[in-house]
Amino acid sequence: MKINSPLQAYEHLPKTNCGDCGEPTCMAFASHLIDRSRNVGDCPPLTGVEFKDNYDTLTDLLAPEIREVTIGTGDHAITIGGDDVLYRHKLTFFNKTAFAYEVCDTMDEDELVSQVNKIQNFSKFYIGDFLTLDAVAVRCLSGDADQFANAVRTVMETTDLPLILCSLDATVLDAALEVASSRRPLIYAATTDNWREVAGLVLTYHVPVVLSAPGDLDTLKSLALTFASIGIRDLVLDPGTSPTEGLRDSFENFLKIRRAGIEGQTDIAYPLMAVPMTAWAELDGVSAAYWESVLVSIFTIRYGDIMIMHSTEPYSLLPELHIRDTVYTDPRKPVMVDSGVFEIGSPSRNSPVFITTNFALTYYTVESDISSNDIDCHLCVVDTDGIGVEAAVAGGQLTAGKIKEAFDSAGFDVREKTDHGTVILPGLAARLQGDVEDATGLDVMIGPPDSGRIPQWLESKWEK
Ligand code: SF4
Repeated sequence: MKINSPLQAYEHLPKTNCGDCGEPTCMAFASHLIDRSRNVGDCPPLTGVEFKDNYDTLTDLLAPEIREVTIGTGDHAITIGGDDVLYRHKLTFFNKTAFAYEVCDTMDEDELVSQVNKIQNFSKFYIGDFLTLDAVAVRCLSGDADQFANAVRTVMETTDLPLILCSLDATVLDAALEVASSRRPLIYAATTDNWREVAGLVLTYHVPVVLSAPGDLDTLKSLALTFASIGIRDLVLDPGTSPTEGLRDSFENFLKIRRAGIEGQTDIAYPLMAVPMTAWAELDGVSAAYWESVLVSIFTIRYGDIMIMHSTEPYSLLPELHIRDTVYTDPRKPVMVDSGVFEIGSPSRNSPVFITTNFALTYYTVESDISSNDIDCHLCVVDTDGIGVEAAVAGGQLTAGKIKEAFDSAGFDVREKTDHGTVILPGLAARLQGDVEDATGLDVMIGPPDSGRIPQWLESKWEK
C-alpha cells in the first residue's frame, strides 16, 4: 500500500458525502479503505466514467506490497499474499497462510478418497470458529500422465477444496490441467529446466504457478522477471525449505525475499511457498512429524503464505492450526463475543447466575466448562472490550457499574428471575464483591478462580 492515512485516500474520493457507500462521509469511507475493511469498488460514484482516473489511481495506491494470488474457485477459493508489513504489530497480517496436505497418484482409489476426506472433513472448534484445512496437493509419483490425471479427477470428485498439482514434468501437468483447469489449481512447479513448457501451460490454462529455485535467490528472481515479462503475474515463489542443516539458510531466504518485497522490489513481491513435508525426506515416524510441525511454525511466523504438508495426524494438525490462528489474529481487534445474559442448559429459578467477561477465550472456556458438566445456569457476559477477567479488573473494564449495566441492558432482573437473588463473581474478580453488592443490591458469592473448578465449587458452596 503506497498510502497509509485516510486523508491521503480521501483526496481521491468524490468528496460529496452522498452516503451511497453506507458511510456517513467520504472521510469515514477513506478510513475503511486504509484498514482494508472496504474496497474502492464499494463507492458507487467512483465506479462511474466521471471518476475513472480516481478509481485507477486509488486502486494502485491501495494495492498491497505483496501481490495477492487466488487459488481455486467458489466458496473454497483461497487468496494468499497481500501483506503490507514485516511485523504484525505494525498493521496486521492479511490472508492467513494456506495449509495444503498431500496425496499422491500411486495411492489406490480407496486410500486416495479416504485421505482426501480426512483433509476436507477435519474441523476443530476454537473460540467461536472452526479451524479447518485449506487445500489438497496432488503429487505425481508415478511419472505417468494418465495415472496422474485420473488421480486428480478422483480428488476433484471427492472435494471442492482448491488443488495444487505437483510435478516437474510439463507433460504430466498438461494432462492434469486438461481435467482440472476449471478449478484454477496452483501448479507446482516451474524451474530452470522446464520453465518454457510450464509458462506455455500457464498461458493456455490461466492458472497460478509456483516458481522453484531451492537455495538460489538470483535464479528465483530471474524466473520471476521472465514470467512477468510475458505477462504472467499470478506467481508464488518457492525459495526451498530445508528441514535440518540448511534450515537457517532457508529461513534467511524467506526473510530476504519478504523484506525486499515489502520495501518496494516489485519484481519479487509475490507470495512465498514453504514445503514442510521435506522433513519426511530426511527423517521418519514421529521425528519427521515433529520437524514438519516445527517447520510449519517457523514459516507461518516468517513468511510462508502457502505450505504443503504430509502428516494429518491430530498431533501435527492441532499445533499447526493453532499457531496460524494466533499469528493471523488481528492485533487491532480484541477477540470478543457479544455481551448479555445467556441461558446455558435449562435454568430454573434456583439455578446459579455466573458472571464473566466478553473476551472470547474466557467466554468459550467458561461456557464449555459449564455445559460439558450439564450445569443449568445463567451466564452474564460483561462487555470488557474483549479483555479477560484479571486484566479487566486491574484496567477498570470490569467494574460493579459495568456488571449492573450488563444485567440492566439485558433486561435481566436477578431478584425477579431467581428465588435466591445471588450472582457469582469469578474468583479473580473477588475484590469487586462489596462494590457489586452496593451497586446491585444483590447477594454476591465468589466463585472459583478457574472455571474448570465450577462443578466442585457448586457441590460444596451452592445450597440455594
Ligand atoms: S459513496 Fe463515495 S462519494 Fe458517496 S459518501 Fe461514500 S465515499 Fe463518498
